[in-house]
Amino acid sequence: DGLRLDIISRDGHSISRRQISENALKVLYRLNKSGYKAYLVGGGVRDILLGLEPKDFDVVTNATPDDIKKLFRNCRLVGRRFRLAHIVFGRDVIEVATFRGHHSESNDKVSKSNAEGRLLRDNVYGEIDEDAERRDFTINALYYDISDYSIRSYGGGINDLNARTIKLIGDPDTRYREDPVRMLRAVRFATKLDMQIDAVTADPIKALAPLLADIPAARMYEEVLKLFFAGKAEANYNMMQRFGLFAPLFPQVGALIEESPKGHAAKMLQVVMRNTDIRVSEDKTVTPAFFFAAILWYPVKQRADDIAIESGLTHYDAYVAAMGDVLEKQCLTISLPRRFSTPARDIWQLQLRLERGQGTRAFKLLEHPKFRAAYDLLLLRGEVEMGNIAKIAEWWKAFVEADDTDRSDIAKSIKGSNSRNRNAPQRKRRRKPAAKPAEE
Ligand code: ATP
Ligand code: MG
Repeated sequence: DGLRLDIISRDGHSISRRQISENALKVLYRLNKSGYKAYLVGGGVRDILLGLEPKDFDVVTNATPDDIKKLFRNCRLVGRRFRLAHIVFGRDVIEVATFRGHHSESNDKVSKSNAEGRLLRDNVYGEIDEDAERRDFTINALYYDISDYSIRSYGGGINDLNARTIKLIGDPDTRYREDPVRMLRAVRFATKLDMQIDAVTADPIKALAPLLADIPAARMYEEVLKLFFAGKAEANYNMMQRFGLFAPLFPQVGALIEESPKGHAAKMLQVVMRNTDIRVSEDKTVTPAFFFAAILWYPVKQRADDIAIESGLTHYDAYVAAMGDVLEKQCLTISLPRRFSTPARDIWQLQLRLERGQGTRAFKLLEHPKFRAAYDLLLLRGEVEMGNIAKIAEWWKAFVEADDTDRSDIAKSIKGSNSRNRNAPQRKRRRKPAAKPAEE
């Protein structure tokens, strides 16, 4: 048994060396000239064959990390779970891995799984065919051989690529248990490459989705960036929801959405995803601070309402406490770095000030370093909630877009006229905090 192997010779495929980065070629040739096998593998091969520009180039070889280290002065060995060599060319890094093998005769030092079957360590070396069996999808088990420019395709990868099918190598249930992140990767490749997930590969996802809760939060953060900051956020989000993959990552907002699928939280998620994709397509910056602030706004709001009822804290203090609670809980599944969680808090606190800070106070708010992000969130809330928040958002829009003289007029007009009673929800709420159950 073993995986089916197809070899496509150099004149049977479209990959030319011109499409491979100079640094990747250097690494491939150096390994090969030193007597090792060397292949370009995975996304690099796949993307070139699909006419896309690869994000990065990965190399595999039968040289061990120590062998590689001896060949390249600019080599750093990294990784625990998978030991890898990074060959560093300034800002460009070529990742070089040694063929991975099976686990049968290995011991705890080199390989280890947990009770659910998840691989904790995977440093058994092997041959190329074993390496192919350890890869996730057939379209990623493509190897470009630098010695004769042929492509080795395992498990029917080249056919699946042409049929635009995402197919897991091996038994899907086992492979997802070994590494639940593969479920997210299936979704990400389907949207990025515009492919279908094969039925057998899609089938177990819903049942196994909860396993994602156990993935280390730091790794999850990296995956979340790839899912939502590469221009396919909306498609990934929708597919994740269909497979039950969203709630395990974002349990708090996931629960709100489950409770009321047409509520504010659900609408906000749609709006944020679409907004993020538009920003990416316009080459505007997208920051995890804004993204998380927007996604978690309604959980914060609900938590703040609960806290206010339970503890009798003021509106403002209840929000501050809620922000801490919500962030802490979120960071159990996705570790948002502090350089993003701190500005996320600013964006939240500014919501409260924007809601009541029209009139001449607006000038001061305008100078806050996080004003722009907070204002952007207010606009999204306007789209989601409509009603009063939409009116406040409209006022701010007029204020922000006006020139200096008009601005003063806008500020004065609102202060002198109806701003007090029109925008005084905090007053009402202070008298009757229990009346409003956050959503709906
Ligand atoms: P992209 O870089 O565009 O996200 P990629 O396929 O190159 O896509 P990487 O994360 O760079 O993805 O991984 C490189 C290769 O390593 C993959 O093509 C796949 O063969 C293998 N691989 C990556 N992650 C896993 C995983 N969780 N399980 C099994 N194999 C994996
Ligand atoms: Mg890659």
